Amino acid sequence: MIRTDQSDYVGRFAPSPTGPLHFGSLVAAVASYLEACQHDGQWLLRIEDIDPPRQVAGADLAIIRALETYGFEWSGPVTYQSQNRARHDDVINTLIADGLAYSCACSRSDIGGPVYDGRCRNLQLSGKHAIRILTGNESIRFADGLQGKYSQQLESAVGDFVIRRRDGLIAYQLAVVVDDFDQGVTHVVRGVDLLDSTPRQIYLQKVLGMPTPAYLHTPLVLADDQQKLSKMTGAEAITFTAPRPTLVAALRALWQQPPPELGDNDMHDIWSWAKENWNTKSLKGKKSVLQGS
Ligand SMILES: [Zn+2]
Repeated sequence: MIRTDQSDYVGRFAPSPTGPLHFGSLVAAVASYLEACQHDGQWLLRIEDIDPPRQVAGADLAIIRALETYGFEWSGPVTYQSQNRARHDDVINTLIADGLAYSCACSRSDIGGPVYDGRCRNLQLSGKHAIRILTGNESIRFADGLQGKYSQQLESAVGDFVIRRRDGLIAYQLAVVVDDFDQGVTHVVRGVDLLDSTPRQIYLQKVLGMPTPAYLHTPLVLADDQQKLSKMTGAEAITFTAPRPTLVAALRALWQQPPPELGDNDMHDIWSWAKENWNTKSLKGKKSVLQGS
């Protein structure tokens, strides 16, 4: 994509290398890309490789190759979240030094539920433990570009949440906030499965004095049995041999109305049509779409 100086829109696609790109992640990539194109913005590609136990060797390259095959053009080099590890630790250490984060020695069974009650807040534990951020009882509110108003009271909904795991791995919530800020991301377009993570991220942005980007959460693609398409449910990798009909199917899954013959055109023409006609109106409020729609 060509950067024009008229726009300060910076979007991104940030897949985890836990498997190949499947149809559901293609749809998320298409939505995020078309939003960036429509705003004459930049579109960054960042591989979120901070959870090695869940990663698959070579998945990053397979994802990059798939995006190239499908004609995506990102701005600048591909970045890897693991490259920002020292910065993540700096941020966490500053939060600890400022009394905003603390060590927690609780096991999953100690906690016994989805909400952490903050029992280690004042223990001043030393040693190798998970690090949690202090939350408060104010509601975090935001207006999502597609899902409308959303609010969550963190202390009662999740409690003080983990920003660095006991095994030393950086938690997704922390890494995504720091990297979006460091890369100047202004607009986050991603699947609605991350909607309920957003208040935690906005809270971290506030605590760290970072601006909150605009959010737009796109519907998830469901298989015909209503299961979410994901690496967990064994969704198939998208095809490399017939990308054009698959790209048109992705547009259809996003409720765009490509003409029936669009798939016969070359990739460039399909993208030209998509960029010209991209419209999210029909996606408003939708949490899911069927793969075969
Ligand atoms: Zn604890």
